[in-house]
Amino acid sequence: MPHISGSDIAGEIAEFGTLVTGHIAGEKVLVAPGISCRICEYCANGWDSLCTSYKIIGNETQGGYAECVAVPRENILPIPDKLSFEEASSVPLVFLTAWHMLVTRADLKAGETVLVWAAGSGVGSAAIQVAKVLGAKVVATAGSDEKTEKARKLGADWVINHHTQEVPEEVKRVTNGAKVNVVFDHIGTATWEKSMRSMAPGGRLVNCGVTSGGKAEVDIRYVFVRQFSLLGSYMGGMGELLKVLKFFEDGRLKPVVDSVFPLQDAAKAQERMEKSQHFGKIVLKV
Ligand SMILES: [Zn+2]
Repeated sequence: MPHISGSDIAGEIAEFGTLVTGHIAGEKVLVAPGISCRICEYCANGWDSLCTSYKIIGNETQGGYAECVAVPRENILPIPDKLSFEEASSVPLVFLTAWHMLVTRADLKAGETVLVWAAGSGVGSAAIQVAKVLGAKVVATAGSDEKTEKARKLGADWVINHHTQEVPEEVKRVTNGAKVNVVFDHIGTATWEKSMRSMAPGGRLVNCGVTSGGKAEVDIRYVFVRQFSLLGSYMGGMGELLKVLKFFEDGRLKPVVDSVFPLQDAAKAQERMEKSQHFGKIVLKV
C-alpha cells in the first residue's frame, strides 16, 4: 500500500526501455493483464495463469488507475482498428476470462445451452457474446428489467431476473425440461446450489470467482450420479487473448462500456460497481 488498482488498460506508449524494439512512441496499445515467466512448462503450453510467477496487473502489481503505468514489453498489444481507448480497455481481462472458461475449460459446443449468471457484470456480458460466437444457446440472469433488456440485445436467448424469479425452475421451463450443459459462474456461495440444480446430466460448472463468498455445500451424490464436472478457471493465456482480439476486428465480439468517469472520480466509479448499477465495464479516463 498505497495500491493502484486497474487491470484493464489502454493508451499511448509514452516511452520505452532501451532494450525494447518494434514500438514507437505514441503508438496506441492495450495491455494484456497477465504477467508470467514465459519459459516454464505451463507458460510454454499456453497455461500462463498456472505459472508459479503469474501476476495480474493491478492486483499483484500497481495498475491502471493512473496517468502512466509501466508494464513488460510482452504485455503490449495493438488495439484492434475499430476500437476507441474506452472500448479497448473494456476488453482484455473479461473476454480472456470468458474465453478460457467457455472454450478451454468447459469446451462449450455449438447447439449446447449455457447458463450465464449476472449478465450485467464484465465477465457475464463477455460470456454471452463468446457463447453466441461458439453457436451455443444462452440463458442469462440479470438483476433488473433494464439489465434484462440489455442482456437480450447482447444475444441472450432467454433472460431470467435472479431477484424476482427462481432460476433453476425458469431454466427448466425455458429449456423444456432439458436444463443447461454448462453453467458460467463467478458468484460462488449465492449461486452454487442453484447452479447444480440447473445442470443437465453430464453438465459442466465452470467458475472464475466468488463475489458472494467462497464456501458452498456439494452433494457428492449428484456429482457422480449425474456425472457433473466442476471446473476452476483463472484468467487465460496470451495465445487465447490474441485469438479473442481477432473477433473484435470483424465486430463479432463487441466491448460493453457501461460508463466513463474521469480518473479523479474513481471512488464514484467503484461505488457504481459495488451497488451493481452497471452493465458491462466502467472506464476511468485520464
Ligand atoms: Zn511460467
